[in-house]
Formats: sequence, C-alpha cells, structure tokens
Amino acid sequence: MDVAGRAGKVRAALAEAGCDALLVTHLPNIRWLTGFTGSAAQLLVRGDDLVLVTDGRYSEQGPAELAAAGAAASVEVLANPGEQDELIDRLTRGLARVGLESDHLTWARQRTLAAGVLTGRDLVATESLVDALRSVKDPGEVARIEAAAAAVDAALAAVLPLLLDRPTERAVALALDDEIRARGTDGPAFETIVATGANGARPHARPGERTVEAGHLVVVDAGAVVDGYRSDMTRTYSIGPPGPDARRLLDAVAAAQAAGVAAARAGVPARAVDAACRGSLDGAGLGHLFLHGTGHGIGLEVHEAPAVSARSAATLAAGTVVTIEPGAYLAGVGGVRFEDTVAVTEAGCRSLTHAPKDPVLS
Ligand code: ZN
Ligand code: ZN
Repeated sequence: MDVAGRAGKVRAALAEAGCDALLVTHLPNIRWLTGFTGSAAQLLVRGDDLVLVTDGRYSEQGPAELAAAGAAASVEVLANPGEQDELIDRLTRGLARVGLESDHLTWARQRTLAAGVLTGRDLVATESLVDALRSVKDPGEVARIEAAAAAVDAALAAVLPLLLDRPTERAVALALDDEIRARGTDGPAFETIVATGANGARPHARPGERTVEAGHLVVVDAGAVVDGYRSDMTRTYSIGPPGPDARRLLDAVAAAQAAGVAAARAGVPARAVDAACRGSLDGAGLGHLFLHGTGHGIGLEVHEAPAVSARSAATLAAGTVVTIEPGAYLAGVGGVRFEDTVAVTEAGCRSLTHAPKDPVLS
C-alpha cells in the first residue's frame, strides 16, 4: 500500500475546496492517511506536513504504526482534549480557511471549534473529501479485501454441511465466525447474519434460536477483516428442493445480481449498476420485493463511499471496490440475497468473492 502518497491526493482536493488545511477526525480516514489504528486521534493535514494529535495511550503505538506505514507525519501526544485543542489552534494560526469533515463531526464539536478553538479562521464544511479518495483502492488494499473474501469463502464451505443438521441460526453464525477466525483473519467484519425461513424476509435479521428446516431458504451474510480491510458476501440456500415461490425468487435474484456485475465498469455511474439489478427484478415481476439499495463501497469500513443506489451521484473508477447485493423478500416465504464484493476495472469488474452460488443443499 502506498500510504505516504495519500496526503498529496488530499492536498490536491483541499486546494480545489479552497482550504489551507483539513482537520481529519474520522478514524478510518486517519488510518488510511497514516496507518494509525488507535481509538482516539485528530490529524491535521497542512500544505507541507501532517500532524497526528493523540493521547498518552498511543505514545509508543502511534509513532510505531506511522513508521511501519511509511507515513510522513509527526505525532504529538497530549494527555487532555484541552491541550490538544490548544495545539490545533497554534498549528492553524495564520491559515485563513480550515476544512472540517462535515459528515463525521458532531454538532457539539463543530460548535466548540467554531466558537473557541478555531475562532478567526474560516471553517469550511468539506463533504466526503477523504472518503471519496478512499473509495478508489490501490492494489495493496484490494489484496487485503480479497484475502478477507477468500477466508469467508473457505469458512462458508466448511460450515455448509451443518445446515442440513437442523441447527439454530445462532449455531450457524457462531460456527461461521469461528471458521473465519481460524483462517488467520482479524475476525468477522460485522455481525454475521443467518436468517432462515420466514425470518429471511427481514434483510437484516439477527440470528436467533430458530432452527433451519427442510424447505427453508437460508440467507447467510458474512465478512472478514484482514489488516483492517473488510469483505462482505451473501449466499442463499434452499434446504432440499425449493418450492415454486422459492425457486422463482432464487432464479430472479441470481439473474439480477449477474446483471449488476455485468453493468459495473470504470466510468459507469454507480446508479446504473443499481438500475441494472432493479430492471432485471422488474422484468421478473419482483421489483417490488427489492427493499434496499444494490450495494456499497467497502474497505476500512463495511459501508463506505460510494453508495450503489438509485440516488448515488458517484461514478465507478478502476479500483473502486463495491458490493453488488440485490435481494427479494417475500413475507411468509423468506428472503433471497446474493452478494459479491467486486473490484471495478476498466473493462468491467473482478469478483473478489468466489463462493459458488448453487443454492440447493441436500
Ligand atoms: Zn453483506
Ligand atoms: Zn453488503
């Protein structure tokens, strides 16, 4: 990963936004710019340097992580928020316009900065400035997401036989989480979803004590973390031969997901991928059962820019990593969702998820 080269991209975007500096407060953005993984820090990006401000818990870890990432940033360790704010004041004196991350700052913090710490400087509400840059991954980032996706593919393959033993949703989720950890990852990327039968009609159902029975559709949605980078995938299985309603859902959603994958390419608006999935399901007469957006960017966060939805203003670029995950949810029958994490290329996209989509288990 080229961590050191990222600050230059932020400075170019800052110049475009008319800012002399940016106070980065969103921790995943700080990690992306410096390699810092701690739970408390602010990062000031100025024209000629980067200053990470953190507290005593990170006096050793902070400089070590920045050095390991090759980030050209200095680290200032100050015990309390008041001292940290005094330093940010000193470091920004003489600068006319300081950008803040409007998507990530609390209202209270904005008021403190505007009415005290940064008085006299124009505060600029930047929107998704670092987030937009983060959405295009370098090869090192794609490799980490791919490793996370591969671990989930293998973990899922190991757990599938369990689905035929009438397990509870919770037992399947726990087994999958264990397999994900056993494959050298940092663990699951989010709370694993296992939703069987009618419970599957809720897109974000939590695993409970329902048992997986013959005739059920089972939705399994899981991801892993490798060196901070996340993957996300969903498969749906029919326990035994599916009934006619279930078959129709399975075929239509698989076709919609393939249509979305076929539409993804550098230069294409993200909303066109959403439209491809939605159009496919509409054609099957099931568009009204598709209850959410088609996908999301993924990387240091499980949901990050760009959104893949009808309202998304983003354009896909080579290196953008997104999920493509249409679904259909029929009350009383259950749900079907197929989700791959894909890396966009000039010619199309490359799936980082390789688990088979054959839905019938018997
Ligand atoms: Zn998912
Ligand atoms: Zn997802």
